[in-house]
Amino acid sequence: MFDENIATILAPYKKILILTHEMPDGDCIGSALGLAQGLKQKGIYTDVVMKTPIPEKYSFLPGSEEILLPDSLNKQVEAVIFVDCSDMERIGFNLKEFCPKINMIINIDHHVSNTHFGHFNLVDTQAAATGEIIYKLLLKMEAEITPDIATALYTALVTDSGSFQYDNTTSTTLKLAADLLDYGANRKTIKKYIWENSSLTDINVLKAALNSLSFSAENKIAYIYLSLNTINSLQVSDENFEGLINYPRSIAGVEVAIFFKEIEPQVVKVSFRSKEYVDVNQLAAVFGGGGHVRAAGCTLSCSLDDAIKQVLNVTQQRI
Ligand code: 5GP
Ligand code: MN
Repeated sequence: MFDENIATILAPYKKILILTHEMPDGDCIGSALGLAQGLKQKGIYTDVVMKTPIPEKYSFLPGSEEILLPDSLNKQVEAVIFVDCSDMERIGFNLKEFCPKINMIINIDHHVSNTHFGHFNLVDTQAAATGEIIYKLLLKMEAEITPDIATALYTALVTDSGSFQYDNTTSTTLKLAADLLDYGANRKTIKKYIWENSSLTDINVLKAALNSLSFSAENKIAYIYLSLNTINSLQVSDENFEGLINYPRSIAGVEVAIFFKEIEPQVVKVSFRSKEYVDVNQLAAVFGGGGHVRAAGCTLSCSLDDAIKQVLNVTQQRI
């Protein structure tokens, strides 16, 4: 934690970058946009940059149309704020290559696996979402919580807490969410775009994923997988995969749910969820990944079959 006013730290810098993790989700997008708008009120101008375009369902968020891709990064920029990233590699590209002059790194995050890589680290692992930390930060800066900021931060909270179902939901989360509604967060629009907006492709991907549903360790492990062939035949993009892991997780008696996604030949992205006792952050760390105790991920460089074998083997030892 740092006590310095972020606005004071950033004051000497003309333009600041805000970066988030690859495959952006509701928390990192909402947090980045809320922070950018709050800082702007204090005369601090930012560019929000993400490796890939955001999923369509978050495009209703005010300011999302200004999110840039790494190609348009300002090479002269010296200060950067990482949002919702447990380490610098999470952004998915080499920052030094694009911005060699960076000399100030601020790290705002809630992952237990955070490596405290910044010059200033604002890491609160009790926060259900990075959006919670951003909200408190904006209040401390005496920024006005506009309806647009409230909408961005409410989106962060509601998505990362699984609509306030996951164990990371605390009374603070709910109090902050209530405050954000009072500040004008557009709950109905958020609901419509995020949960009532499935495309036919989403449903076809769900069908394929459920078709792969398999079990291990006396049904305490449930997993699904999608091969590159299947993914290509369905013509899907990253955004069609969100929430799939909730299906194996939702099964009674399952402790660990795993989703294997072959993203390139010999590259498999793995998502983990657990319910009661398995620390999936530690599980993911075995393969160089990380995240939270109940939600984590990693990437393996091998075939889909090998990834499934290796990951199941390690998971079975911890169940
Ligand atoms: P998801 O399964 O939704 O992609 O990710 C679950 C959680 O684990 C998120 O908080 C995400 O940031 C984190 N996570 C996912 N993949 C990785 C990874 O490869 N490395 C690290 N450090 N964290 C990850
Ligand atoms: Mn998050």
